[in-house]
Amino acid sequence: MFTVNAIAAPSATEPLVRTTIERRDLGPHDVLIEIRYAGICHSDIHTVRGDWGSVPYPLTVGHEIVGRITEVGADVTRHAVGDRAGVGCMVNSCRECENCRTGNEQYCLKGNTQTYAGVDRDGTVTQGGYSTHVVVNEDFVLRVPESIPYEAAAPMLCAGITTYSPLAHWNAGPGKKVAVVGLGGLGHMAVKIAAAMGAEVTVLSQTLSKKDDGLRFGAEHYHATKDPATFEVLKNSFDLIINTVSAPIDMASYLGLLRLDGTLVSVGAPPEPLPVPVFALFGNRRSFAGSSIGSIAETQEMLDFCAERGIAPEVEVIGAEAVNDAYERVLASDVRYRFVIDIDTLH
Ligand SMILES: [Zn+2]
Ligand SMILES: [Zn+2]
Repeated sequence: MFTVNAIAAPSATEPLVRTTIERRDLGPHDVLIEIRYAGICHSDIHTVRGDWGSVPYPLTVGHEIVGRITEVGADVTRHAVGDRAGVGCMVNSCRECENCRTGNEQYCLKGNTQTYAGVDRDGTVTQGGYSTHVVVNEDFVLRVPESIPYEAAAPMLCAGITTYSPLAHWNAGPGKKVAVVGLGGLGHMAVKIAAAMGAEVTVLSQTLSKKDDGLRFGAEHYHATKDPATFEVLKNSFDLIINTVSAPIDMASYLGLLRLDGTLVSVGAPPEPLPVPVFALFGNRRSFAGSSIGSIAETQEMLDFCAERGIAPEVEVIGAEAVNDAYERVLASDVRYRFVIDIDTLH
C-alpha cells in the first residue's frame, strides 16, 4: 500500500476536507494513474450526503477521472507508461456472468465494482478520483485520445457515456427526432452527441434561459416545459426522449410526446418511484426504459467518436479548495456545465 493526497467526506453532514488515502500496490494487471483532472458529478454529492443510502466514511468520491499512466503491472498488455488514461464509474466486475460475458459488464449480475464506495474484489472499499493517484485493473481503463482537451475529457467518463449509450442503443441518427429533457451536465452532452449522430435534436428545459447554449450545442429546437403549450405543440413527435432530470416528471405529458414505437429513456434518477400511466404506453406502442452508463468497449467507442467529431463537455476548472463551494453551485444548478477539479492543486 502507499499513501496519496485526496479530498474526502468525513461524514454526510460535514464539508469535504483534504486528507490522505491508501492505494493498493500494483498487481500484475493493474496500472497506476497520476490523475490530472476529476469531474464533479451530481452522483458524488448524492453519495457523500447519504441520499442514496449509507456509505463508508471517510469517503473519497469522483468517477470522472483522467490522467497519465506512470507505472504498469508485470502482465499489463492494454496500456503503457505515458498513455493518457481515463476511469469512469466502474473499476471491475465478476467477468463470469451472462452479462459480463456478452460485454455488458456495467450490468454485471453480481454488481459491477463502483469506482468509489464499492467493495473491490480484494474486499477493500474503493476510493474515487478526487486524489492524486489511482490503481485500476487494466481492463477498466480507457484510452483518452490526445485531441480531446485534457480537462474536458473527465466528464465524458460519466456524463458522456451515460448519454451516448442510450442514444446508440436506440439508434439516434439521421431521420430520428430526439428530445433531451434537462440541459445540465448530462443533458448538454446528450445534445452534442445526438446532434453529432445526425439526429434532429430538441431541448426540453424548464425555461428558455439556456436556449442560446442549447442551439450552439447542436439542438434545432428548444422549448420550455413550464409552458403547457409545449406538450400540445410537440405531441406525437419524438422517436426517442432522453430524460436527464433527477426530479419526478409528469409521465403522461412526456410519454404523449412520443410518436409510434417511441421510447422515453431515463438516465436521471429521482429517489421516489415515477407513476407510469399504462394508457399513455398503449397509444403509439410507446416504451419507458432506463439505461446505466455503458460498457468499457462502448465507453472507448464514445471517446473515439467525440474525438473524431471534436465534441467535448463545457467545463469550469476549479482548484481543490473550491470543491465545497462547487457542490453548492451544482445543487443550485449554477454551473455551465460541469465542474472539473485540477488535481495539480492537491499535490
Ligand atoms: Zn456520475
Ligand atoms: Zn458479471
